[in-house]
Amino acid sequence: MPAPIEALRAHLAPIEDLKAAAAVLRWDQETHMPDGGAEARAQQLSTLQSTAHERFVAEETGALLDQAAEALDAPAPLDPDAALVRVTRRDYERAVRVPSSLVAELSKATSQAQQAWTQARQNDDFSRFAPHLERLVELSVEKAEAIGYEDEPYDALLAEYEPGRTTAEVASLFDTLRSDLVPIVDAIAEAPPIDDSVLRGSYPQSDQRAFGRSVIADFGYDFDRGRQDVSAHPFTTAFSPDDVRLTTRYDEDNVASALFSTIHEAGHGLYEQGIAPSLDRTPLGDGTALSTHESQARLWENHIGRSRPFWRHYLPRLKDAFPDALGDAALEPFYRAINRVTPSLIRVEADEVTYHLHVMLRFELGRGLIDGSVSVNDLPARWNDAMDTYLGVVPETDANGVLQDVHWSQGAFGYFPTYTLGTLTAAQLMEAIQNDLPGLPEHIAEGRFGPLLDWLRTHLHQHGRVLDAPDLLERATGKALSTGAWLRYARDKFGALYSL
Ligand code: ZN
Repeated sequence: MPAPIEALRAHLAPIEDLKAAAAVLRWDQETHMPDGGAEARAQQLSTLQSTAHERFVAEETGALLDQAAEALDAPAPLDPDAALVRVTRRDYERAVRVPSSLVAELSKATSQAQQAWTQARQNDDFSRFAPHLERLVELSVEKAEAIGYEDEPYDALLAEYEPGRTTAEVASLFDTLRSDLVPIVDAIAEAPPIDDSVLRGSYPQSDQRAFGRSVIADFGYDFDRGRQDVSAHPFTTAFSPDDVRLTTRYDEDNVASALFSTIHEAGHGLYEQGIAPSLDRTPLGDGTALSTHESQARLWENHIGRSRPFWRHYLPRLKDAFPDALGDAALEPFYRAINRVTPSLIRVEADEVTYHLHVMLRFELGRGLIDGSVSVNDLPARWNDAMDTYLGVVPETDANGVLQDVHWSQGAFGYFPTYTLGTLTAAQLMEAIQNDLPGLPEHIAEGRFGPLLDWLRTHLHQHGRVLDAPDLLERATGKALSTGAWLRYARDKFGALYSL
């Protein structure tokens, strides 16, 4: 007889394999699959996901969890066996409440909705996507009711990405942030605008690709255990710590767009590549919360990639790559250009300061769709009103408005707040890192990222889901999540840029 914890591991490993296989199919759907493959793919994904779900919710899982829990000694906080039982138990209790038929229906509806969203966006025709979105809202509410929640259905959906956080907590954190953020945005709007014309010109895709790959290889992203492809919406997916894939999209008229999206996704990828190999093929072999994942992307993108020391090192190299477009570029104007703050329509192209307002808008509308206070048919108008109120800009097309993000077509309600939670987490981590690594700006200016990556590996990456996000952050920074560190960072950086 194997030890109970080994029996549990042996039961869970093939379930993780099925989930990884489904992730490969989703990656393919976004990067290589022809449009005609949509229906067959929906069926394949539905089969894989429902098979994984059925195996996981089987009574055997519950029995193995009970036996493993009984055999555990008094657990130390970082004990992987205790964490395996605790996290799997939480996933299990959540999963057994959702019927297999609903899981299969959601999977099929999601694949079809994504296809419809792609066409709706291409044709600027929200009505093609609307019935699919309505169906996904219905099924998501059904799922939330099945899982159960304390205050509102959105809680149950948020918990999928942020275990232990509630909608009310997020709303309260966002209220604090909004009241401090709006005066900063207003003050910047009064200040003379930054000229970012240096970023525009002719930047061939192949050269952008080569430059982006060289930068993230310097960070420590391992191309022997990863690759980069093109998709409509950049994302990162991992099938194991040894196969972590990034995507990006290119704009040949703008040098910043693909570069920062590449750096961002590499931040996600470095997290996945850094998870302890011993956690592979268990439910612990993943990022602990989406906010933690996003913190890694934002840390590399904003705190490193948009910093002066970084460009001291990389601007000469970028000029070598694009001598025609950037031959005359100087450090200070370039640094200012990549940090320009201006209200805009597209979230993924938004600056660090106004980004939060894009997130708040999506959080409020997504919460409204789920609690029934916002209808799908009213969504484009509600979107445009909110854009006007928050950012003072209104999209002329739904393609540049309500149809711009892939997330709702994936049924990912509860997802958007994790972006802002992640940005706040990144700033809080960065304060701790600067304390521990006083030489960091010099390292970055020399293109040396080893000490930073080591810090992140030690304090975050290796732990996978062994620690929950609040515990992980508290151990790494000594504090609970708040808006303080990000506001100090933003006031310091943008106060200097805009002479506030
Ligand atoms: Zn991200």
